[in-house]
Amino acid sequence: MASQTVVASELPDLGEVSQTAFTAADEARVGSEIMRDIYADPKYYDDPELIEYLNNLGYRLVASSSENRRAFRFFVLKDPTLNAFALPGGFIGVHTGLIEAAQSESELAGVLGHEIAHVTQHHLARMIESQKQGIVPSLVALALAILAARSNPQMATAAIATVQAGTIQQQLNFSRDNEREADRIGMQIMSGAGFDPNAMSSFFERLQKDSRLYENNAPAYLRTHPLTSQRIADIQNRAANLPTKQVPDSLDFQLLRAKLKAQDGNADQAVKAANAALMEGRYNNVTAARYGLVAALLRDQQYSRAGQEMQKLRALNSTSPLIDALAARLKLASGDSAGALKLYRDARERFPGYRPLLYANADALLQARQGAAALKLVEAAITLYPDDYRLQLLLARGYAQQGKVFMSHKAQADAYFYQGQLDAAIEQLRLALKSKDGDFYQSSIAEARLKQWLAIEKPSKP
Ligand SMILES: [Zn+2]
Repeated sequence: MASQTVVASELPDLGEVSQTAFTAADEARVGSEIMRDIYADPKYYDDPELIEYLNNLGYRLVASSSENRRAFRFFVLKDPTLNAFALPGGFIGVHTGLIEAAQSESELAGVLGHEIAHVTQHHLARMIESQKQGIVPSLVALALAILAARSNPQMATAAIATVQAGTIQQQLNFSRDNEREADRIGMQIMSGAGFDPNAMSSFFERLQKDSRLYENNAPAYLRTHPLTSQRIADIQNRAANLPTKQVPDSLDFQLLRAKLKAQDGNADQAVKAANAALMEGRYNNVTAARYGLVAALLRDQQYSRAGQEMQKLRALNSTSPLIDALAARLKLASGDSAGALKLYRDARERFPGYRPLLYANADALLQARQGAAALKLVEAAITLYPDDYRLQLLLARGYAQQGKVFMSHKAQADAYFYQGQLDAAIEQLRLALKSKDGDFYQSSIAEARLKQWLAIEKPSKP
């Protein structure tokens, strides 16, 4: 997380940590504060397909946990290191490196189950309450310290010095007991959701073996979740008491790993790697291997060859919105806008609830200067998902194309608001009101909202 020192000076005063308990409300505030920085981090991987997949998998796991009504949000950081972490407020981050390293969906489910368990067992709150001797000066310092502990250690030191919370960082790792409990509950969660419990120890074991190669540079996951042979043995023993399952991976898990691999290295290397894997039969799933080759060729701008390979992929008759979306992206990149729009329309009929297709379709319509059609699509969806910042951004672009200045700034304001960027949201709302092209009704709503947001920005102190 770069530029934390700068961020520190912009942070609003969240108030002191309650002296009696670290409440759910404290947690939510610290969590949103951290997420505000993460959304702005260049490593934040804003790939709707991957995020949709991870949240579906995550919620399948949450459903088998003790807190199955609680809100979680799963997000991805583009980072080759193997790491996953739980933040206050139910936010769970996963590095792309960890997703690529998982050799089965059950392995990924094991790591997510462990992180979900840290949340459901309130380990963060317990850890924070256990060190209340005046160490934690404010929620802001805490947010920064947690953020820093998860990122570049040198940046972290600088950031922490700014808020004089240097002592927190070392103490932010969960205790051994917490880790064992997260293993135990996490395994119940993943096994209850239908995944193979043995995958948890197999993945951890591989991580531990890999870490010997790293010497002092252990994967981040091992630094935040120290793995001992005892811990792995405990996990294995517990798995032995549960029924062994052969769980096939979902096609989307395979496709998304192929998509991530196609982003590795430079475009030329990615094509060569995808080609070689296919030629030498080094793959678990032929559809994913072919999908990965098309994705790499598209990235390398080899459109005609990508088109030929796409036909071979289609001939396998696998069904996934990810394949349709890749086909449409390829048409768009090759300059066939009408063909792409037709593919998106057909795909949305096949997968009506799948929002990544909707975003991509609206984006393609906007690129083709069909603002009215894009707005029709997005306005219908936004009644179902008003807090979806991607839809708000598309709305803003659609209105801008039609010269509706007020509506465009207002949608932009909402987009910022739902990403926790309150200052930017307020600025956009002011621009909307200044534009004078909103009608009386819309302007009154905007003025009321501006008042509301200003009140949040400067909370009255007791
Ligand atoms: Zn852990």
